[in-house]
Amino acid sequence: MSESLPDLYQFTRAEITELVVGWGYSPVHAATLWNALYWEMAEGIGAMQALPEKVRIRLEKETRLGVLPVALSTDSSDGYTRKFLLTLPDDRRIETVRMRFTGRATACISSQAGCAMGCVFCATGQMGFSRHLAAGEIVAQVVHVARMLKRAGEPRLRNVVVMGMGEPLHNYDATMRALEIVRDSSGLALGAERITVSTVGVVPGILRLAEERQPVSLAVSLHAATQEERAALVPAARAWPLDRLMEACRTYSAITGRRIFYEWTLIEGKNDSADHAHAVGRLLHGLPAQVNLIPLNPTSGYAGEPGRRETAREFQQILANQYNLPSTVRQRRGIDIAAGCGQLAGVV
Ligand code: SAH
Ligand code: SF4
Repeated sequence: MSESLPDLYQFTRAEITELVVGWGYSPVHAATLWNALYWEMAEGIGAMQALPEKVRIRLEKETRLGVLPVALSTDSSDGYTRKFLLTLPDDRRIETVRMRFTGRATACISSQAGCAMGCVFCATGQMGFSRHLAAGEIVAQVVHVARMLKRAGEPRLRNVVVMGMGEPLHNYDATMRALEIVRDSSGLALGAERITVSTVGVVPGILRLAEERQPVSLAVSLHAATQEERAALVPAARAWPLDRLMEACRTYSAITGRRIFYEWTLIEGKNDSADHAHAVGRLLHGLPAQVNLIPLNPTSGYAGEPGRRETAREFQQILANQYNLPSTVRQRRGIDIAAGCGQLAGVV
């Protein structure tokens, strides 16, 4: 199998039909192929036994199926989280996480190998950028988790969060193409409201999501309510300052009518005081917003602490009582296997 052949996971259903019909085969074979990809979740073209042999031979010759081999899979002692280290065709490694909340499975997928944004507290940022993932490599991660659930007889995959390695809006086209493929109602059929894209605050990307009315939920990583404090944690804030970011968020909500999730990694002594809660309250007051507080997870390159549980509760109370802002505290999951937010580095 040559790496240069097109990956079947990169095609939309219409493109699969075009390909198969373009070879002179019936559209029925195209439908069978789509079924093999996203219903049976075949692990290779050879396993697609419902297809006539001649079609399989043609597929083998002119395409490849970009299943990503599992280099390592690790279970957290929390019983809810499993992390997969997946190998890309060029031998780079990325991580995908399967989480289970109240019985529902969520796939946390990567959009890049590494990340160019350099957030100081994030393991992916600490490793730097290697490359963008292709659309097929993003789809392959979702299929991997969906297949695993199916083979285990578990309920089907319902939620996807693009919160693994990388900045999805820095790899906009591939990410949006992949999400279109996994939403296809006769394929993995993931609901638009169950797909969340998290961004560090790439302003042009947020505006483009709005203009294109991309059917996704948006999460914006805020972490600080002043430009100075934010730029110290999130270097990308120098390119896209807080006032421009908030303006883009207002535009996004005005155009789409959607609420935005604002993520706030709680770091003891840095951004977790009552004053900080008031500052974020004032910043978001009146906007369609929900705040997700994420107690800091440990990474080798950053010395901060997550702070106490009560601090998060006090933060929430200020947001709710004084600014009418709903918030949640992200449960700490998978920390023992470095599968928590910001801990993915693609290494064993
Ligand atoms: N690049 C995107 C998505 C990946 S990170 C983004 O930055 O939004 C998903 C979330 O985890 C982000 O809100 C990110 O800021 C947060 N995060 C990163 N490192 C973390 C850490 N060590 N502890 C807790 N949250 C972290
Ligand atoms: Fe990149 Fe997001 Fe990590 Fe920042 S938090 S370095 S944007 S993956």
